[in-house]
Amino acid sequence: MRSTVFWQSLVRWIALAAVLTPLAMSHALDAPAQAVLGAGAVLLFVSAFFWPRCPHCRTRIVQFSKRKWLPGLTCWHCGRPYDEDRCPPHLARLLEAVEQAAKVRKTDPAAADRLDADAEAEFAAASGRERAGLRERAPFDRAAALRLRTRLEEDLKALDRVRKTLLKSAESDSQAGAGLQNLEAAQRPIREEIASLNLTLQRLAARRSDQGGGLTSA
Ligand SMILES: [Zn+2]
Repeated sequence: MRSTVFWQSLVRWIALAAVLTPLAMSHALDAPAQAVLGAGAVLLFVSAFFWPRCPHCRTRIVQFSKRKWLPGLTCWHCGRPYDEDRCPPHLARLLEAVEQAAKVRKTDPAAADRLDADAEAEFAAASGRERAGLRERAPFDRAAALRLRTRLEEDLKALDRVRKTLLKSAESDSQAGAGLQNLEAAQRPIREEIASLNLTLQRLAARRSDQGGGLTSA
């Protein structure tokens, strides 16, 4: 799971490498070509001071002092996930905790298990609270309806990945067949909720165009 700012940063460094490589073999280049490439390299490097930025607090992504050239999941300044649509704050916290637990595991497996269990419980609770809030606001709040739909689509994708694994083992494992049926049963209400959200979104869009647009909260 990578945020847009991650790919933007990565593309910039790849472009910089693409400019620096011919510069390093400068004997093959004439002076004007060297000057153009040199200016391009400087511009690309300087762009890191301005772009990309955190969408929440507008802090630049690159941490020059720490030699951190590519962003993680969360902003180093405000702590929010760069891409909250795809990575809710509680998922970012879970991933951080799991990483932390993996570090501890070598020296203290029991503590690592506790960290994992606590993080999973916290994740389930926070995820439940977020869903409940989104479901409450979705009927009249387009942003909430859109975010809830994104979350549900991610759920479906996750279950699809499980389905692929089960299908592979279905031939050798009789339990996998039952697992597939349970999976289907779990996906059905999610699909129904997405369909109902699509209707809500259509209704909200119709109401917005009735009002001449632009005046409702986003
Ligand atoms: Zn930030």
